[in-house]
Amino acid sequence: MASSTYATSGIVLRKTKLGESDLIITLLGSDGSLVRCVAKGARKPTSSFSSRLELFCEVDLLCACGRSLDIVKEARLVRGNERIRTSVEHATAAAPMAELLAKVAQEGLENELLYRSSCVAFSALNEVSAQVAPSLCAAHLLKTLAYAGLRPSLAVCVVCGEGVCSDAGLVAFSYSEGGVVCPACRPHCETLPLSEHARSWSHYLLVTRFADIAEAKPPLDASFAVLRLAQGLIKAHLGTNLKSLEFLLSSGLW
Ligand SMILES: [Zn+2]
Repeated sequence: MASSTYATSGIVLRKTKLGESDLIITLLGSDGSLVRCVAKGARKPTSSFSSRLELFCEVDLLCACGRSLDIVKEARLVRGNERIRTSVEHATAAAPMAELLAKVAQEGLENELLYRSSCVAFSALNEVSAQVAPSLCAAHLLKTLAYAGLRPSLAVCVVCGEGVCSDAGLVAFSYSEGGVVCPACRPHCETLPLSEHARSWSHYLLVTRFADIAEAKPPLDASFAVLRLAQGLIKAHLGTNLKSLEFLLSSGLW
């Protein structure tokens, strides 16, 4: 008979109350799929789970097969990323990263690059100053969209592939097509003006390593412009707003 327990690991994205003292833990599994399991008694102060299943942590789990959701039997902390939870700016920047991952990852659908990218992103966020946190969030949102098959075209026209030049510091951007649009294709697409500043920083954050972004310290206004671009893309392609991203953009923390 096959074993009814199995080992898994992942990043904790969400914790949802269940019953009197249990939690449903939503993880980005190490294969990039979405994993949901129950940690029984995890909300009791004496539970060993309470310090090991924190948001934005990397964890190893031993789970038992349950009737609807599997049950966490053991949890081991691999990387705590503690600063993300103890700094309000870092937590505010991490929340949209986790919320988007919980929307694009799917149960049973492997996407290992999404997991690898996310581990690096949360780990990098844990190390940077609060001023750099929105830049890492913006980069991770764009990279997550790319790994979910929604990579925006930021260097060439999304329709024909021609290079796009800015006109008086503005380019045409189509949220529904997912990229910049050249003058010849513009009559065929619904576009909005996007500043060349926002386009160039979006492209930079999409293609640059998290460690290099942390070192480059992009200006805050650029990072917020990229966050608004990501917000528009998420709304156009996933049909939803990220509540945590709306909070970040309106929080006044920076
Ligand atoms: Zn074109």
